Amino acid sequence: MKYVSTRGKAPVLEFDDVLLSGLARDGGLYVPESWPQFSADQIRSFKDLNYQELALEIMTPFVGATITPDDLKHIIGNAYSNFDADEIAPLKKIGDNEYLLELFHGPTLAFKDMAMQFLGPMFDHVLKARGQRVTIVGATSGDTGSAAIEACRDRDAIDIFILYPDGRVSDVQRRQMTTVDASNVHCIALDGTFDDCQDMLKAMFNDQPFRDHYNLSAVNSINWARIMAQVVYYFWAALKAGAPDKDVAFAVPTGNFGNVFAGYAASRMGLAVSQFVIGSNSNDILTRFFETGIMKMDGVHPTISPSMDIQVSSNFERLLFELCHRDGEKVTALIDGFRKDGSFTVDGALIERARNLFEGARFNDDETMSMIKTVLTDCGELLDPHSAVGVAAGRAKRRDPSVAMIELATAHPAKFPDAVEKASGVHPELPNRLADLHERPEQVDHLANDLATVQDFICETLADHNQGEASA
Ligand SMILES: *Cc1c(COP(=O)(O)O)cnc(C)c1O
Repeated sequence: MKYVSTRGKAPVLEFDDVLLSGLARDGGLYVPESWPQFSADQIRSFKDLNYQELALEIMTPFVGATITPDDLKHIIGNAYSNFDADEIAPLKKIGDNEYLLELFHGPTLAFKDMAMQFLGPMFDHVLKARGQRVTIVGATSGDTGSAAIEACRDRDAIDIFILYPDGRVSDVQRRQMTTVDASNVHCIALDGTFDDCQDMLKAMFNDQPFRDHYNLSAVNSINWARIMAQVVYYFWAALKAGAPDKDVAFAVPTGNFGNVFAGYAASRMGLAVSQFVIGSNSNDILTRFFETGIMKMDGVHPTISPSMDIQVSSNFERLLFELCHRDGEKVTALIDGFRKDGSFTVDGALIERARNLFEGARFNDDETMSMIKTVLTDCGELLDPHSAVGVAAGRAKRRDPSVAMIELATAHPAKFPDAVEKASGVHPELPNRLADLHERPEQVDHLANDLATVQDFICETLADHNQGEASA
């Protein structure tokens, strides 16, 4: 399988190069040159596979010849060994033909583990095969940082530095990063905001000599391998709900459009999906787009579902590329307009195509809390605020009650205990393996919001670390 950029001007790459490069050189995002196809008979034959076996079937055509089948199998086995549910992603019936897909049974209790846990061993494998090392740097406002750290900890070919805004992430989120005891993991509490962390990251990537010397890399949500790993659970859930002999619909709480784009990919690969409902919190740029055909930037509004508090949906460009019939020049023109004016408008035919499959719904914090309460009362399930937005969206926009509606639960309620308790009166307990999170020692360096300070810190840390290894 070869990969092309959504802007049409970057080199065509194989899977392993796409994995390591992240963003394409023309500023676009990589997508497969064509969608692998599975017939209804093939999909039916996957019914009795466990999650790891299904993942192998779905991912094999995407990795092509760059990774041997044995290696891929090993990487997948490694990736999903750390989940606290045998099924990895349990599907629960919560209503009439209505299901909840639980994606939060990984080590950091959010759906990001579904892909990150795969990305860690995949990176390690490709790097070792090439005799390379990377320094992964990331900025986080919460969930991504801990998921990346858990995925990369103790991996020989990787050092990871995560920057977070000092005092601006929740206690649980901070401790999930700072209590990880691994010599290749380095947390930086930056004296600034999340935007300062992101600007710092950009400045490091723009410093070419620094970037090359430390072989900087990123594991952010635009990395194709993360989307690929997420495609699996759409097939998984649909099979459990009766596909391919029954149609299914999905409702997905989304911010960056990364999760739901994986569902769209599954539909392009032969899975019959009749509808995708996108759940937005008050940061509703995507819902507004599907309503109006206009993508327009707005300020960021803090909500009780902070992992969806975004201004721009970075993965949406991949759908735009498909809706433009893979015309990279047209995508470039639209995105350039967005950068310049803060908005773009698509033509009527394009938005009609999009609406065939997609619909959005927005919910403010009060509506989200009221859904947490309703679902607890009606079916005894305690939802986190992100998942509640997903359930609310599925219920509000369902087109056909005879089609199974699968709503994605993206975080464990204990990850957002204050909002959940306020909504339901119930304090969500952390799972056993994290029960002592608040007693574990923390390790973190507090740094000034200054590029040279952060670069010096990385430089010294790596020098010490490598010396330690040489003498060990
Ligand atoms: C990241 C995240 C989301 C949003 O996912 P996207 O891929 O950005 O759409 C939703 N819920 C939770 C809990 C998350 O961590």
